[in-house]
Amino acid sequence: MTARILVVDDVEANVRLLEAKLAAEYYDVLTAYDGPTALAVAAADQPDIVLLDVMMPGMDGFQVCRRLKDDPLTRHIPVVLVTALDGRDDKLQGLEAGADEFLTKPVDDLVLFARVRSLTRLKLVIDELRQREASGRRMGAIETASARLGGAGGRVLIVDDHERQAERMAAELAVEHRPVIESEPDKALLSARGPCDLVIVNLGARSFDGLRLAAQIRSDETTRQTPILAVYEPAERARAVKSLDLGVNDLLARPIDDQELAARVRAQIRRKRYTDLLRDNLDRSLELAVTDPLTGLHNRRYMDSQLTALLRRAAKGGEPVAALIIDIDHFKGVNDAYGHDVGDEVLSEFAVRLATNVRAIDLPCRYGGEEFVVVMPDTRLEDAHHIAERIRTQVAGSPFRVADGRELLSVTISIGVASGQGETPESLLRRADAALYEAKTAGRNRVIARSAAA
Ligand code: GH3
Ligand code: MG
Ligand code: MG
Repeated sequence: MTARILVVDDVEANVRLLEAKLAAEYYDVLTAYDGPTALAVAAADQPDIVLLDVMMPGMDGFQVCRRLKDDPLTRHIPVVLVTALDGRDDKLQGLEAGADEFLTKPVDDLVLFARVRSLTRLKLVIDELRQREASGRRMGAIETASARLGGAGGRVLIVDDHERQAERMAAELAVEHRPVIESEPDKALLSARGPCDLVIVNLGARSFDGLRLAAQIRSDETTRQTPILAVYEPAERARAVKSLDLGVNDLLARPIDDQELAARVRAQIRRKRYTDLLRDNLDRSLELAVTDPLTGLHNRRYMDSQLTALLRRAAKGGEPVAALIIDIDHFKGVNDAYGHDVGDEVLSEFAVRLATNVRAIDLPCRYGGEEFVVVMPDTRLEDAHHIAERIRTQVAGSPFRVADGRELLSVTISIGVASGQGETPESLLRRADAALYEAKTAGRNRVIARSAAA
């Protein structure tokens, strides 16, 4: 997995050193020697990660970081600040500026590559989400996820069997979050499946294996996206580095610095909210793409894709697929007499009746206007006919209550039925449509089925 990394440092030797290390691992390296150039390169070349020196004349690393995180063009790019060895204040200030990770000089190769790998993975996910979001936005389906998201008010699960340490963390975090402590890994996994914005795991726990727990959280379907912050003993650096490869998002060394804890937790929660927002927008755009907004039924596009797939399966020796085309009788008259809004109410009410009168495996869809299609997998013509008749009776049998209950309308429908195996969706639907036409000309409020031979 390669990535493009922008290295920013005012000292040329530092840039060359990092460039050489990264290039040796087959990363593409871009370089900049001051803040303004770094901002320009980041915006223009869209690197996957920025490695940013803190101490630079003119615009320092914090300012550069803040500018990167404020710009919608570069906000999503992870920033690693490279700080002096004992840079506690640097770290705090950097986290406030929106930095994603830290490395201390001189840069430790093992830590560098573990960080780069974990950030590259994260960046891949974010890129994928952003790309799909952008196409959803082009379709007009979703709003942009540009809101600046806060990092407070998070639900934080602390998994630690070291009681005093856990309670201290909880007390510190309770200032702005809702921390919960769990000392057993099984219960922790259950708890993480509930609403949870961050899990803090003590890698040095005595009664359970923190690395194993982190891996379990990462592999569980419901907690896969939940960020993990691992607490480690500086002497166990190798384990900490390994945890990054297992999917841990950030590290915190013992003894725990309260302010650093608060800042790292805030940074993780902020990032989770950003990816959650992208993901929600994506879900919504996917749903909109297959759903009819008025009735909530599947739309024609979705129906087409499903019918195509089912018929292909049927052609390979599967069961036949049936289709009903349903058209509301004299619907124009409803609009003319009561208005378009009441017409819409009739369509919605009909959709509910339709959806509750087909089987779970059937796919009721709005085909367009006042026409509906039900796709029925594994269904012979007689059975489809039977179900169509049930729908027709249900609709004709009880009037529709509309206009806030002020009007009671009799509605009837006509249905054409067809079933097929070795044919195209077009040919199956054409046959159902011909049957529907027959039902209309024969007086409406009836079902006509047409077999393939006829
Ligand atoms: P028939 O029995 O032959 O089907 O008569 P009909 O009046 O139902 O058929 P026609 O196709 O002439 O008219 C369909 C009407 O449905 C015309 C159109 O304005 C109306 N319509 C289509 N889509 C919608 C919609 O989303 N909402 C409302 N209220 N009316 C719609
Ligand atoms: Mg009609
Ligand atoms: Mg019509």
